[in-house]
Formats: sequence, structure tokens, C-alpha cells
Amino acid sequence: MAERVINFSPGPSTLPLPVLQQAQRDLVSLPNVGASPLEISHRGAWFTSVIEEAEENLRTLLVVPADYRVLFCQGGATMQFAMSAMNFLPGAGRPAEFVVTGAWGERAAREAGKVGPVRVAWTDRDDGFRRTPTDEELRRELSGGVAYVHVTSNETIQGVEFPDTPDAPEGVPLVTDASSDFLSRPVDIGAHGLLYAGAQKNAGPAGVTVVLVRDDLLSRIPEGLPAMLDYRTYVEHRSMYNTPPVFAIYVLMLVTRWLRDEIGGLEAMAAINRDKAAMLYEVLDADPGFYRGHADPGSRSLMNVTFRLPTTELESAFLARAAEQGMVELKGHRSVGGIRASIYNAMTRESVETLAAFMRGFRARAGS
Ligand code: PMP
Repeated sequence: MAERVINFSPGPSTLPLPVLQQAQRDLVSLPNVGASPLEISHRGAWFTSVIEEAEENLRTLLVVPADYRVLFCQGGATMQFAMSAMNFLPGAGRPAEFVVTGAWGERAAREAGKVGPVRVAWTDRDDGFRRTPTDEELRRELSGGVAYVHVTSNETIQGVEFPDTPDAPEGVPLVTDASSDFLSRPVDIGAHGLLYAGAQKNAGPAGVTVVLVRDDLLSRIPEGLPAMLDYRTYVEHRSMYNTPPVFAIYVLMLVTRWLRDEIGGLEAMAAINRDKAAMLYEVLDADPGFYRGHADPGSRSLMNVTFRLPTTELESAFLARAAEQGMVELKGHRSVGGIRASIYNAMTRESVETLAAFMRGFRARAGS
């Protein structure tokens, strides 16, 4: 096997090595099937058991209540920006409210706005997206009686994450884009009307988007939507109305199996993720004049750690020297600049410790 770098990519991102090795073993010929997962019908027995296990594992890991459907869609989270609006906005006769804590929430609001009325109830855009609202701010700003409230649980670009699921007003469905912290910690699914996540950070490869939807909301969907844009099609056909992304769902199933069997579930995963993030934030906090974290401490992401150095020259040197030591994809998004270390589930403690040690050393060499 060629040597693997320590890959801090924001997505698609590093996957658990045992999952990749299993996929490699199966790639040319599946035991008892004699063909590759890339070559066989999604209607066959092998894939049927794969998609069933993927759903079952998600239900177990997330403790999904019985009145929720688990759907496997395509089109990424970006399609969900539009699809959630097409399903739940037109029939409501009221706007949807968006809590915009970063670039993805902004996009989600823009897409939904093409479908129906949208109101941004809270944002800290003018402060550069550094925090999530307090419970008190949400209580004050959310109207109640709207079609739904949309939030982004973790803003991948800014590194801003809700510490807990926010409260929507009584009776208003909460719609969450959980793309970049899905399966990183336990979530109260029952607090949601709809939750969606592109798989390519914590759950698997690009190409599949997991959607959890509460049954009672399906009756609000207007008639006449194109089949692939109507959640009911996925419910009625168990996500196999057309050809699903077979390979992506297969790898997602392996990732959920790894989370269940190797990690021991989402509580255990969350503890590991808290430890990993703490290692990096400790380095930032030890020297805030040198490493300047982007997010306010109470809204810091456990998945994407974003920070600046005193000059862009130092940032370039940081990236170059990190790359020399096999640590790649650390460049921040151009809208934030600086450094972003994405440390999703599959990023090991050892790799994060390697980065933390590098950061301490880099700071020491830079002098004061
Ligand atoms: N939402 C969030 C929070 C994301 O991080 C991303 C991708 N980085 C998206 C939405 C868009 O996802 P996709 O590329 O799967 O459409």
C-alpha cells in the first residue's frame, strides 16, 4: 500500500482505514457473489441486505424514533436546500425561517428563497459568522407558526457548531443541515422534523445524502412534484425508485458498522471527538496572540478547527511545513482564510496529536 498522508480535508475526507480495506477486499469480487459492488444490480439480494443494514445501523446509532423514515437521496446537501423547501414551503402559506450561522446556511436560505418566502431570523454575518445564537436570542427572534425553521448544525467553512440542538418554537418543524457533524455525536432526532446530511464527511463517500424525516410531515407535501424531488417517492420505494448510488451506500454501511462495532456508538465517538478538538483548541488558547481562533469559544466546532496566524506569510509557511510532514488539506476556505483542520470521526487521536505538536513547534520556531 502506498503511504497515506494525514488528510485534514473538509470533504470528501478521510475514511476509517478498516473500511477502506474492506472495500478494497470486496472491490473485484464479493464473496458468494463473484462480482464487484460496482457491477451488480441494486435489486439483488446482496444490495438489499446492504441498504437494509445501512438503515438499521443508522437507526441504532442515532436512536431514530419509529415514526421517522430514513431515506438515501442523491444530489448532495445542496439538493436538500431546494428539496426541503419544495416539499414543505408551498403548502404552508407562511415563510420558512433561517438561522444563518455561516456560508452553508446562507446558501440554503438562498435556494429555499427560489421556492417560496424565506426570512432570515438570526444571523451574525456582519461579525463574520463567529457564533451560534443563544437560546434567549432564538426565543426572541423566531416567530412561531412558520413553515419550518432551518439551521446548519455545523458550519464547515467557518468552524461554528451549535453546542446542542436548538429549540424551534412549539409546533414548528426544525429542519437541520447536519452534513458536517452527522454521526459525530448523539442527536435528539425527535426534536427534528427533517435532518439531512451529505455523506462525504463522517458517513462515507460523496454521492449519497441521508435524510431523516418525521412521518406526519409527509402529508404536507404538495401534489405534482417531480418524483425525484418528492420525499414520498423515497419512502414508498425504500430509496430505490431509480438506481441508488450503490457503492456509496455500501461504504456508508461499512462506516456505520465500524462506528457500532469498533468505536462503540455515538457517545464513545463524541468523547473521542471532544478530546481531539480540545487538543487543538488548547494550542490556540495557549497563545492567542499567535493563533487566533475564528469561532467564539462557546460555538467552536468539534469537526472543523479554524484559525489565523499573525500574517499570511506565516500561514503559507505553516501550510508548507505541515505538508512536508505529511499533513495536507489544512488551508482555510478563501472566505475565512488561514488554517482549517477538519478532524472528522475517522481522523485518529494520534494524527491530531501530531498536528498539535507541529503547531506548538511552529509557534516556538516563529519566535515572539
Ligand atoms: N452543507 C454543509 C454544512 C456542507 O459542509 C456542505 C459541503 N461542504 C454542503 C452543505 C454542500 O454539500 P454537497 O456538496 O453534498 O451538496
